[in-house]
Amino acid sequence: MTRLAAVFLVAVFLPSVALGILALRTAADQQAILERQTAELYQNETDALAAGIGDAILGSQREFAQQVRDLLARMEPRILAWDFSKLLGEKGVAFAIDPDGVVVTGESRTMDAEAFIAANRSFLSNTAEAEVFPTAQSAFSNGVKGRIEGTTLGGKGGDEEIRNRAAAVGKQASKVMPPVSRKIAPAVAPPTTESAPSPVAAQISDFQSATSTAADGVLARFSQNRLELIFWTRPPEAHGHVFALALPADAVAAFVREAFAALAPAENPATGIAVLDENAKPVARRPANFEADWRRPFVATGIGELLPHWEVALYLREPGRLAESARLVTLTLFLLVGLALSAILAGGAFVAWDARRHMLLAQKKTDFVSNVSHELKTPLTSIRMFAEMLERDGATDPARRSKYLRIILHESERLTRLINNVLDFARMERHQHSYRKRPIDLFPVLQDAWETHIDHLRDAGFTCEWDAAPPPYPVTADPDAISQIVVNLLSNAEKYSPDQKTVILHTFTANGLLHVEVLDRGIGVRSGESERIFEAFHRSDDSLSSGVQGSGLGLALARRIAADHGGTVTHRDRPGGGSIFILTLPLDSPDPQPA
Ligand code: ADP
Repeated sequence: MTRLAAVFLVAVFLPSVALGILALRTAADQQAILERQTAELYQNETDALAAGIGDAILGSQREFAQQVRDLLARMEPRILAWDFSKLLGEKGVAFAIDPDGVVVTGESRTMDAEAFIAANRSFLSNTAEAEVFPTAQSAFSNGVKGRIEGTTLGGKGGDEEIRNRAAAVGKQASKVMPPVSRKIAPAVAPPTTESAPSPVAAQISDFQSATSTAADGVLARFSQNRLELIFWTRPPEAHGHVFALALPADAVAAFVREAFAALAPAENPATGIAVLDENAKPVARRPANFEADWRRPFVATGIGELLPHWEVALYLREPGRLAESARLVTLTLFLLVGLALSAILAGGAFVAWDARRHMLLAQKKTDFVSNVSHELKTPLTSIRMFAEMLERDGATDPARRSKYLRIILHESERLTRLINNVLDFARMERHQHSYRKRPIDLFPVLQDAWETHIDHLRDAGFTCEWDAAPPPYPVTADPDAISQIVVNLLSNAEKYSPDQKTVILHTFTANGLLHVEVLDRGIGVRSGESERIFEAFHRSDDSLSSGVQGSGLGLALARRIAADHGGTVTHRDRPGGGSIFILTLPLDSPDPQPA
């Protein structure tokens, strides 16, 4: 039994509990998992939009460079430099820088242009350095996509690569500024960049140094804390001239708004997406009217050196929804795991219980075989002994002879009873037992059983009392089967009454039932065993230790037969000691008239 318990513990209980704990821990992480999955999905959106906006800026720069080349095909660089603001002025502040580093602005100039040139003249003519963020078209052989991926937060690049690129672009840059920290804190940031500084870093450089390593590029710089972009090109045919188009801050914002309108993903009721400027203020957003705590997006992607410190940020419009669905998933998982665990444990417990039951039954059957063998042997031994005695001297003394014969008769009856009990039980187990039921008066049947038994009881020193209600007892029954019950009960009363030897058979009718009670003053039945004694093969420890022989089948059989007749057999302690076994059977007519 302890081995079974150990196997159950090691093979079922502990693994189930371990599995359960693991599963529940996974379930508890659901919110993080769901958040990470959603974040990945939305991060792709912000990455793509950031890349698209960068792409649009570089595309615009390329367009500008092409226009310059087309114009150069038609005119001298020096002439173009002079006419440049007239030709391209409406797109922004158009200017040229001649090979001596002089800013050539030509004639037609707007107020904006005047202000821009005035503010930047010393930087543009290389007499002063400024903080700039250069991007060279040619520095990135993979084109725009490579650049953008490298600078997005989720991309493969990271700080180091960006600094290398910056260094490659501006080789003569006197200094690379340390990166500044991000203005926003996304709720979910890719693991590599958590609490990372903004991956773009400014260089301190003059215009020429910032533009010397490539033929084309974009230069971003903050002027009075507002971001401006300068598209520039240094075509070989221009003999040292640099042509540039500057977009003042408002033009940059307008450009981004236009790109955003074309590129932003379709409206999604669950999210809002925006482009934030260097002060984390929205420049463009979708849906148009949505508001959020701009510094706390769900995910965000930096746009890189083209728009330094600008970010594409995505916000969850109902942040509680995510937690809600995570809670639901967790709850469902908890329930499922709980259910599965309970099923495993209940199943395991049932298997263990069943195995234990089978073991006990097997044990009882083994006992039964040895008991029955014993019980067969005892009457056979007496029969043989008394038959031999009869042969030797029984014929001379009639009294002795009849005594011996009675003993032989009784012992053969005991043998028959035992064999009948075993055979009937086996038949019942195989559902092959059949009764010959018919309407009868049970009184004479009981009387007969009683009378055949009391001779022997009296010989054994019993006081026998017949206390039967007047007949008839009309029942529909197989008389042999009912007689078998009564004989089993009388035989038990005899077996289990070692000292005070009295047996009473008491019958009465009540509530449409016939009650047949067998009362003794024997050893009684231990408390708690009143029901178990009716189990097949069960023998109480008292009867085992007192050496009384038996098969453990008599009461099981009695109860089965009674049940097949619509009745019961029960046990009750007899006040003053001993037992009362009660057989009840339904009467055919509830209130039989005495004959
Ligand atoms: P058996 O008598 O062959 O053991 P039974 O099915 O007739 O089998 O009885 C089952 C058990 O019930 C007995 O082993 C005994 O412990 C208990 N028992 C039955 N009848 C009595 C009785 N009259 N008094 C005390 N115990 C009894």
